[in-house]
Amino acid sequence: MSEPENSKRPVAILGATGVVGQHLVQHLVDHPWFVVSELVASDRSAGRPYAESVTWRIPGPVPDPVRDLVVREPDAARLESDLVFSALDASVAREIEAACAARGKVVVSNARSHRMDDDVPLIVPEVNAGHLELVEAQRERRGWGGFIVTNPNCSVIGLTLALAPIAKTAGIRRVVVTTMQALSGAGYPGVASIDVADNVVPAIPGEEEKIASEPRKILGRLANDRVVPADLLVSAHTHRVGVSDGHLLAVSLETDEPLSPADAAGVLAAFRGEPPVPGLPSAPPEPVVVLDADDRPQPRLDRMRGRGMTVSVGRVRACPVLGLAMEVLSHNTIRGAAGGTLLIAELLAAEGRLA
Ligand code: NAP
Repeated sequence: MSEPENSKRPVAILGATGVVGQHLVQHLVDHPWFVVSELVASDRSAGRPYAESVTWRIPGPVPDPVRDLVVREPDAARLESDLVFSALDASVAREIEAACAARGKVVVSNARSHRMDDDVPLIVPEVNAGHLELVEAQRERRGWGGFIVTNPNCSVIGLTLALAPIAKTAGIRRVVVTTMQALSGAGYPGVASIDVADNVVPAIPGEEEKIASEPRKILGRLANDRVVPADLLVSAHTHRVGVSDGHLLAVSLETDEPLSPADAAGVLAAFRGEPPVPGLPSAPPEPVVVLDADDRPQPRLDRMRGRGMTVSVGRVRACPVLGLAMEVLSHNTIRGAAGGTLLIAELLAAEGRLA
């Protein structure tokens, strides 16, 4: 499968100096369809070559093709790329992303700002690619030449990839999820070391509300230019733990129809998503892998499965309260952020929505 163009499509990265922006840069430098042509950050970083401006905090060097690109301020009127990846801080994302879409750009965003807007798709490509239809209503309603598509919260992506195959087979009524979330999920500098060393912080502001609401939209159905949320209750307990990358979730759930742990493991292992998603460049061979060992998944050992795009599920078992229980692990800055937005952009390209 290839992008229906002869040469690579130039793209801009907003928030290119942050944790997620750096992962986007790293994932995009060798991309078969896209080429990084503009890097944007705050006025604290703008005006200098990327290699001087960024404090590079992920493994590997600053990639050669972007070292000398001069970082710009977020002025939508001066951006040339028609495809824009946003890894902006949520405090500024809402207005800047809207300004880009109004100027005809397609914005694929990691920020929470537009996720729950009625006319903005919230996409996990293997789960709800059909919700991209919403962009037509969005353009019409807002009078924009472009549009915004959003990537869910980093815990929600792993959770919905593990819930979707079970929901399709047996329906899901109620979910209780306890998260153990990595430090990189808070950006840089994130949580103070003195707060998290030898400790677990049992609260992440705003996170429990996102985990309760976003899966209902993702697993919902499209009707009359809006998403009818899935009839699903989610209760979340969130924790920040001293792990660098990889969010681990302890999940208990109640299905509409009886489903044994063995059958649940079977539908999870068989899950692939609908074409064209499995053939896209960033799609992992298996979106969900089911591990047999009693002590897996573990963040350090399992987060890089499928180049960080595969969600690992383990310990699928009977729960005496809700029926089923399992452990779910996903890489928060790859599948949960940069890789997730890249897969959305590839899906938009494959569907001809970037024309
Ligand atoms: P981060 O490390 O704090 O980076 C924030 C980026 O936004 C930086 O490039 C920063 O530029 C830029 N920025 C801040 N204020 C700006 C302004 N006024 N104008 C233009 N640019 C501005 O955050 P992050 O962890 O990469 O997260 C980025 C976004 O993705 C957030 O919305 C976050 O909620 C979301 N997200 C993060 C994760 C994760 O695991 N970390 C997962 C999913 C979603 P400067 O360097 O110049 O300040």
